[in-house]
Amino acid sequence: MTTSAATGTGLRFAIIGAGMAGILAAIKLEEAGLTNFAVYEKADRVGGTWRENTYPGLTCDVPSHMYCYSFALNPEWSHMYPPGEEIQEYFESVAQRYGVTPHIRFGDEVVRCQFSSGRWQLATAAGHRDEADVVIAATGVLHHPKYPDIEGLESFGAAMFHSARWDHDVALDGRRVGIIGTGSTAVQIVAAIAERVSTLVLFQRTPQWIVPAVNPTFTAEEKAAFREDHELIEQLRAKASHLFDAFSDAVVDSGSPTMKMIEEACRSNLENNVHDPALRERLRPDYRAGCKRLVVSGDFYQAIQRPNAELITQAIEHIEPRGVHTADGRLHELDVLVLATGFKVDAFVRPMSVVGRDGKDLEQEWAQRPEAYLSISVPGYPNFFMVNGPNGPVGNFSLVEVAELQVGYIMQLVDRIRSGDCREISATPSALAEFERARVETAEKTVWATGCRSWYLDDRGIPAVWPWPFERFRVQMASPAWEAYELRKA
Ligand SMILES: Cc1cc2nc3c(=O)[nH]c(=O)nc-3n(C[C@H](O)[C@H](O)[C@H](O)COP(=O)(O)OP(=O)(O)OC[C@H]3O[C@@H](n4cnc5c(N)ncnc54)[C@H](O)[C@@H]3O)c2cc1C
Repeated sequence: MTTSAATGTGLRFAIIGAGMAGILAAIKLEEAGLTNFAVYEKADRVGGTWRENTYPGLTCDVPSHMYCYSFALNPEWSHMYPPGEEIQEYFESVAQRYGVTPHIRFGDEVVRCQFSSGRWQLATAAGHRDEADVVIAATGVLHHPKYPDIEGLESFGAAMFHSARWDHDVALDGRRVGIIGTGSTAVQIVAAIAERVSTLVLFQRTPQWIVPAVNPTFTAEEKAAFREDHELIEQLRAKASHLFDAFSDAVVDSGSPTMKMIEEACRSNLENNVHDPALRERLRPDYRAGCKRLVVSGDFYQAIQRPNAELITQAIEHIEPRGVHTADGRLHELDVLVLATGFKVDAFVRPMSVVGRDGKDLEQEWAQRPEAYLSISVPGYPNFFMVNGPNGPVGNFSLVEVAELQVGYIMQLVDRIRSGDCREISATPSALAEFERARVETAEKTVWATGCRSWYLDDRGIPAVWPWPFERFRVQMASPAWEAYELRKA
């Protein structure tokens, strides 16, 4: 569909992505009376991360009552840390309940956004065309699977898949299963399947610090009470939020007492729960806790100590049809190989092509590394706003809260266009340069920069994240600093 340029409530919006952030943006537009929008989703269902990741053991590692929209609290969560499928159901039901689903064009991947004569021209892989005044890109952070660069990977003769592309037709029971990777995903998979498989081989390049956690269920009485009185949920959220704020203060101050407490909790978890001293040392990281994204698990150490489980710390040399060869000359024969090797975290809106004012090409702009003012706006790309864009607060936080704050901020930018103050808004080059200068300077003092290899680090080894306390993010999202923006009338 093509519409002509419009102002006020006639503004046309395109939201790209129907994951947690895209659903949220749609609800907020609708709430503001801005109903002329389409949500483009390349898959056939909403949910993003929670649609794509279906591996055994998938669990949110943020408390359930924090991992939901503030305006759609959920008294029905089964656990303190809910399973992935429950989160998927939650987002599907919210999208239905808030009337987002009819706006979604499923199976329609946006391949190009070009700013031309004051509007964004969108093209999809299916050949559809749209023209929008504002684009909200909610295309995800942990979205494009990263495959390991191992010689012979493709030659593996049995079942092999990435953890985000789990093949549920492949049987696990009684089979020899190998897992490459030791991040949160691998840890959850190991704990979930160790009992079922005949042998479980975990290929570890880097050991992880693990924060111990229990995952209690909510009783029927608790759920009834939540249904009755949402204030009880608000109290749980406030308590959890307080803890997460303390955590966010700690990670950005690597010498803080809270950081030391977290490190101590991880150390005693390892020392008290891994009995064989040799295994314990192989599981002990040589970097500080929190430097990599903290893994939360109450059952990984038990699982890896099972007689049918083996931790391999020898480097992988190559893969052949029968299995994995390690540097000590061993061949680990396997029936199933799981690649829990994470995501391309610097892709953001790419591979979609985004061409801004005067033919500026985002791919070229970001050739070195992606940057955006407050992770939302790129100079020269007017009215193109990202949710969960580059260098934002990712880590052990609820990305739902992050997205709510960002969408609230974007709505304030939109208000300036809606009110007729301007037609085009984008951050100024100097605002982005100053933001990046301060961000990099501060990032170097955080725990993420204390000497480890992690997906937080950019090509320079600088943490590509929000390096200040979370409270500062809340304050900055509350109202835009207008001097950071160029507002054009036409
Ligand atoms: C295994 C795993 C566990 C996680 N656990 C947590 C956790 O415990 N707590 C937490 O806060 N976060 C967690 N996250 C992060 C999680 O990604 C976010 O919390 C959240 O789901 C991000 O939502 P999103 O909408 O920004 O992105 P996504 O969920 O990635 O959704 C993006 C959507 O955009 C669509 N899309 C992308 N490009 C296009 C295009 N060009 N055209 C059309 N559609 C497009 C995709 O198909 C997808 O549906 C986890 C991530 C993973 C992978």
